[in-house]
Amino acid sequence: MSKPYRIVIAGAGVTGLTVAALLARSRYSDKLQLTIVDAMARPRHRSDDDTALRVSALATGSAELLRSIGAWDHVKNTRACAYECMRVWDEAGSADGATTLRFDAAEFAMPQLGFIVENVLVQHAILNVLDDANVELVFDTPMISLQKNGQRYRIELAGGETLDTDLVIGADGVRSFVRESVAIAAAEFPYGQNAFVTHLRPENPHRHTAWQRFLQDGPLGMLPLSDGRISVVWSTRETTADRAMHASDEQLGHMLSGASDYVLGNLTVAGPRGTFPLCARHAEHYVLPGVALIGDAAHAVHPLAGQGANLGLQDAAVLADVIVNAIGNGETPGDRPVLRRYERARRGENAAMLHLMTGLNRLFATDSALVRELRAIGMRLFNVSGPIRDHAVKVALGGSLSRN
Ligand SMILES: Cc1cc2nc3c(=O)[nH]c(=O)nc-3n(C[C@H](O)[C@H](O)[C@H](O)COP(=O)(O)OP(=O)(O)OC[C@H]3O[C@@H](n4cnc5c(N)ncnc54)[C@H](O)[C@@H]3O)c2cc1C
Repeated sequence: MSKPYRIVIAGAGVTGLTVAALLARSRYSDKLQLTIVDAMARPRHRSDDDTALRVSALATGSAELLRSIGAWDHVKNTRACAYECMRVWDEAGSADGATTLRFDAAEFAMPQLGFIVENVLVQHAILNVLDDANVELVFDTPMISLQKNGQRYRIELAGGETLDTDLVIGADGVRSFVRESVAIAAAEFPYGQNAFVTHLRPENPHRHTAWQRFLQDGPLGMLPLSDGRISVVWSTRETTADRAMHASDEQLGHMLSGASDYVLGNLTVAGPRGTFPLCARHAEHYVLPGVALIGDAAHAVHPLAGQGANLGLQDAAVLADVIVNAIGNGETPGDRPVLRRYERARRGENAAMLHLMTGLNRLFATDSALVRELRAIGMRLFNVSGPIRDHAVKVALGGSLSRN
């Protein structure tokens, strides 16, 4: 029997897969014909693979969401590193100085602040869930055209197949084909930075801490991995990132040990390398009749606070909720008033995070002595400002917070 609503999801990144799993496990799954289309091959992860280059800090709230769709146990049992503390400091100070921002899970009665996980492992775990659900998975097949066809959209796939759909969810990343095809403009805020990424073995234990040092050219983040290594995300000038890409292992170890102020002693290169151009982007609208954008397709934020995937997962949760409630109320999921509920719930929150990250990146990149002094005062005050600090941590954790 044909199902009343067809939804096509463009993109099998963590956000696209999560919204699919939430809908497939919802109480109205029997009313939804779900298809995911991705341009790339199906992502696969084997437990004896080395830790993949791309990892994300997922907040505890995001882990809970993955648990709710049945994907978290596989991730956690395979390889996830809990981080219990965060230390954020400025180039002018030191990691144990008075201006260092400190967050400890114990202070908030939580076992951890979040988990460092491989992106491909999360995708693999959600796909395992989807294999047992009623979702059509189409890989290695880019969407090549998207056009309005009466009340519905007609999608053409490379290879010639066409899909008619009541709702297309654009979860197809920063350069979203869906967003461009339906002519939703996106504001761009270039950072003039690239993110250089690699894994390193530190001389001293990482202590399950996420470290971030703000340098004038951009922040250096160091995330703990479960085998004792750290994953580095160094947002820096394009020329420096390029130099890091081409340096010998020994030179790179020196560069990053110095950039980290030797907080974990000497760092030894112990993994592949990659660079990613950084640019904040925000879609002017998240929805049109029959179209909704989620994740990086809607907003791309600076990786300095590790929030991109977390925000995308929250989009997925809210959009799935809105769609399920609409069906319960006898409404049509692709109608604009329905989709606007999702946009209203998420766009402001994402904009706040995007501008906060852009502002922080600029604030720390200044070489003005006055700004540096004010920044140090601000960081000291932040450390003792109960409610502001609690609010910041709550947002970063993507969930509720209670103080010990
Ligand atoms: C260096 C770096 C570090 C980061 N660290 C963190 C972190 O610690 N924590 C965090 O929360 N976030 C982090 N992020 C951000 C995070 O990686 C992204 O926000 C997240 O991966 C976006 O997921 P997505 O599913 O929206 O998009 P993507 O992961 O980009 O997935 C989009 C999918 O769409 C597919 N696609 C594209 N075009 C088409 C088409 N025409 N047809 C079909 N399929 C198509 C692609 O193949 C892809 O699989 C980081 C980002 C960077 C660059």
